[in-house]
Amino acid sequence: MPLTELTLTGFKSFAEKTKIKFGDGITGIVGPNGSGKSNITEAIRWVMGESSAKSLRGSNMKDVIFAGSQYRTPMNHAEVELVFDNKNRALNFDADRVTVARRILRNGDSEYLINNQTVRLKDVHALFMDSGISQDSLAIISQGKVDEILNSRPENRRAIFEEAAGVLRFKEQKQAATNQLAKTTDNLIRINDLVNELE
Ligand code: ATP
Repeated sequence: MPLTELTLTGFKSFAEKTKIKFGDGITGIVGPNGSGKSNITEAIRWVMGESSAKSLRGSNMKDVIFAGSQYRTPMNHAEVELVFDNKNRALNFDADRVTVARRILRNGDSEYLINNQTVRLKDVHALFMDSGISQDSLAIISQGKVDEILNSRPENRRAIFEEAAGVLRFKEQKQAATNQLAKTTDNLIRINDLVNELE
């Protein structure tokens, strides 16, 4: 499921439509400080559903839109698109080529698209589920993350290993099921109370 292309338009420092093609093997992106290298990995996380503006170094999600420079006026929208080669069906979608896009407008409206069809965020999550990549997976190690892992408390570090081993997803599912069970138990108690009142 290689990522073959990334296109950014109006995202952070990328005002112009910019296409990056990833070939076979390793791709290195080099550039001076402040030239936008981290913005590229943030764009990938953003299109995969990152919902925390803070983790994208902003205070509001609209901060990802190109804010203008000495030579250019600000943009009104940002868009990022990823193209995956899905011949091996590693992504949960029945097509050889899968595009995932996210757009945001200055008025705050935003949308996700999979193969040009508007979808919900949960569809994007479902697409990447079990693929080993997601906006917060270890497939993307951002600057400072290595230090953070080394300096983290053992229980936090354990969560990192659990995610790598694929256990975290089951823990989350177990937690969701436990919450549902508690809610159902509450409902049953309430129904029993009502039945007792009616008898
Ligand atoms: P370093 O090597 O220092 O880590 P980098 O190449 O990773 O740098 P980034 O941190 O990706 O660079 O880019 C930072 C640049 O992006 C800054 O110049 C900043 O002004 C610019 N930038 C961030 N958000 C926006 C925005 N919304 N509009 C315009 N420019 C932006």
